[in-house]
Amino acid sequence: MHDTFYDVVVIGSGPAGATTARILAERHLSVLLIDKRQELGAPVQCSGAVSRHALEEVNIPITDEFIQEPIYGFGIYDQAGGMTRIDYRMLKSDEYGPGEGKKPLGYVVDRRRFDRYLMTLAERAGATVKLKTEGLGYESLDDGQCRVRLRHFRRETSVRCRVVVGADGLMSQVGKWAGLRTHIRINELASCLQYVVDQVETEGLLEIITGHEWAPGGYAWVFPKGHGYAEIGLGVIPTFTDRDAQWHLQHFMEESFFKERFQNSRILEIQGGGVPLAAPLRVQYADHMILVGDAARHVNPITGGGIHTALSGGAIAARFLTEHLSTDQPTRADQLAACQDAWYEELGRKMWKLYDVKTDIFREKDVPARDLALFGTMSSYFSPESEYKKI
Ligand SMILES: Cc1cc2nc3c(=O)[nH]c(=O)nc-3n(C[C@H](O)[C@H](O)[C@H](O)COP(=O)(O)OP(=O)(O)OC[C@H]3O[C@@H](n4cnc5c(N)ncnc54)[C@H](O)[C@@H]3O)c2cc1C
Repeated sequence: MHDTFYDVVVIGSGPAGATTARILAERHLSVLLIDKRQELGAPVQCSGAVSRHALEEVNIPITDEFIQEPIYGFGIYDQAGGMTRIDYRMLKSDEYGPGEGKKPLGYVVDRRRFDRYLMTLAERAGATVKLKTEGLGYESLDDGQCRVRLRHFRRETSVRCRVVVGADGLMSQVGKWAGLRTHIRINELASCLQYVVDQVETEGLLEIITGHEWAPGGYAWVFPKGHGYAEIGLGVIPTFTDRDAQWHLQHFMEESFFKERFQNSRILEIQGGGVPLAAPLRVQYADHMILVGDAARHVNPITGGGIHTALSGGAIAARFLTEHLSTDQPTRADQLAACQDAWYEELGRKMWKLYDVKTDIFREKDVPARDLALFGTMSSYFSPESEYKKI
């Protein structure tokens, strides 16, 4: 029996993979989108903060189906509780706000519903979607195609395609199959933990708390989730502390200037995961293969945010592949390198710059000086004058 053929097989249906698959399908390529999970986005390993611009840029309809809370700005705190308030309702009151003709700056989305929604958009555009289907490996064939091995429930099968898109997240195997250097250094991998709690007063702001005392090597956050629910979390770099993220989160909740605010909160969910605060991979492609999203380390190294960069990176890859596959050119590494060039021009150059800024901050050995630098960078990053707004 012959393997089914697709132009592109996308491995992983997070924001990066689902967006790549949707745009390819909209442009009439045949696409298989697979995910090994049986429920997308679960267990939740994300706080779900994303700018409106990020969604609009890749034509994702903004709907209550996945939005938990509109966001209008930021509160950036130093270690002692001093706050820079960047509230776009005040700074740009004719543009941002809850009223008629005004818009939020961004949203906190429910990742379970968001990922499912993105997958549905891909399916409606014409992609074939298979959940509980794990990519096991791929091999190049003599005829210029490749074969992808899959496990669907317990049954192993294979399909053929011209290109595999590896959108399989932080622990990406697709890059490894191709022999790429995907190793991440321990001092660039933030260990993150967050609690979903109730009874926290919030004001439509993403609150970011800096300071070595609360989150060594990273920062803590309080993000509103609607109806008095909030996410309280933090990310720490293991080489900056002898304690784990749970100890730090407990310490933050019980000892910080916010402790009164959290005193009636109950912990309803515990979520965690790793965030690469690393540079993007130097090589993000191989014969018949392109990486996108966390798999390519398309993560903002200052904020750790990866949804926007996953969506944008997926769209860039889809646009490149649409054009490339419309000709009969081969899909060897040297042809697919142009995809990374396009990504670099649109996004990568800025990400490398942010990586350099982040490296300079955390190279500082003097802790108060480092804290001050991080607080200052976060405050300017989110300000209306920021040169980095786009990511
Ligand atoms: C605690 C925490 C909080 C965060 N908060 C934010 C935030 O507020 N805002 C923000 O922008 N970013 C945040 N991030 C980062 C963000 O979650 C990621 O950057 C983003 O999800 C990356 O999207 P992706 O599509 O590349 O990968 P993922 O969302 O990780 O999706 C990868 C998919 O691939 C699937 N997969 C993996 N291997 C295989 C395989 N072999 N076969 C089939 N499927 C496979 C997985 O099941 C998964 O569904 C946070 C991360 C953490 C850990």
